[in-house]
Amino acid sequence: MASRSRQSAVSLPAYQRPNHPLTPTALHEIDNLPRTHPTAALEKYIKEASLILAECAGEVNDTLREREERRERVQQSGKTADPRQDAGLEELREKVSTLTGSLDEQVRRLIDTEQHVADIQQTIREGDFARDAPSIVFQQELQARKDDYTALSQMRRYGQHPHYVGFKRTVHDAQHSDEVPLPPPSRWFGESGEPLPGMAGGEEEDSDDDIAIQKETISTKCPLTLCEFKDPITSEKCPHTFEKAAIFEMISSSRVTSTVGTRKGERAVECPVAGCRQTLTKSSLRADPITIRKIRRLQQSRKNEEDDDLDVSFSQNQSSRGRRVILDDDEDDEDEEKGEA
Ligand SMILES: [Zn+2]
Repeated sequence: MASRSRQSAVSLPAYQRPNHPLTPTALHEIDNLPRTHPTAALEKYIKEASLILAECAGEVNDTLREREERRERVQQSGKTADPRQDAGLEELREKVSTLTGSLDEQVRRLIDTEQHVADIQQTIREGDFARDAPSIVFQQELQARKDDYTALSQMRRYGQHPHYVGFKRTVHDAQHSDEVPLPPPSRWFGESGEPLPGMAGGEEEDSDDDIAIQKETISTKCPLTLCEFKDPITSEKCPHTFEKAAIFEMISSSRVTSTVGTRKGERAVECPVAGCRQTLTKSSLRADPITIRKIRRLQQSRKNEEDDDLDVSFSQNQSSRGRRVILDDDEDDEDEEKGEA
């Protein structure tokens, strides 16, 4: 027909998008983006924020535990409990549980953010920017990474992450002290993979689970100074803790520098604990809230015991020679420290 012939007469070649490949200089500048826009500061803030969240969760759970213990003492003493106090305790339990859940959620969101930042960096480094318009390549490849990440189970996303592990350990420590070992990460999530923020200690099943994180034995003395810890700092790479000033001095006077990863060029020492071959740099050491909690608790309970001993020996006879003086010195040191802080 007439119309068909007219159509074929004006038919056009298939549309082709304009193609303006990036120049080598432009590609090079994209390559350089991670260096010109470092994200180290962001990672540091995320880490700090997660520590603060863990600390908050520890504190609210400490408060609840203190109240529970006080309630128990009242019960054991045979006094009748005030029903208003019981209602208050129940209310506190609920509040602490909700708060712990929401702090748990916040830590997971921080980890997602950290992953997102890492994905951006990786997309820039590995994106095939000659393939299409850079903004399209970036969006597509970043989205693909994001999809891969969200397809992972929550256990895979958070179960081994140091921020989440630190948070879980703090909450667990506040809820159970050292009485119950922390259940393994596989039990931090429910059957359908959902997180269980206020997970119970799993007391009954402990024995049949050999991968439960071992109940740690912690020393209250620095392996370098052999003195009681004042400002303990823990390695991220091994389970060793040192007095901050002592290990920092050791690292500062080291002539060796780290040759690997993001810590390349930093002064480094081999972990001074016998048999541990990890390399320590200043940035690989951090104030670990859980270790600090355990050390403080041990120091406090020992101090209480010593105070009790002292009372006994004083009442028996007055010949406890010098011991009192030493204790007083310790106390003075602590007071001075508080004053300086
Ligand atoms: Zn070590």
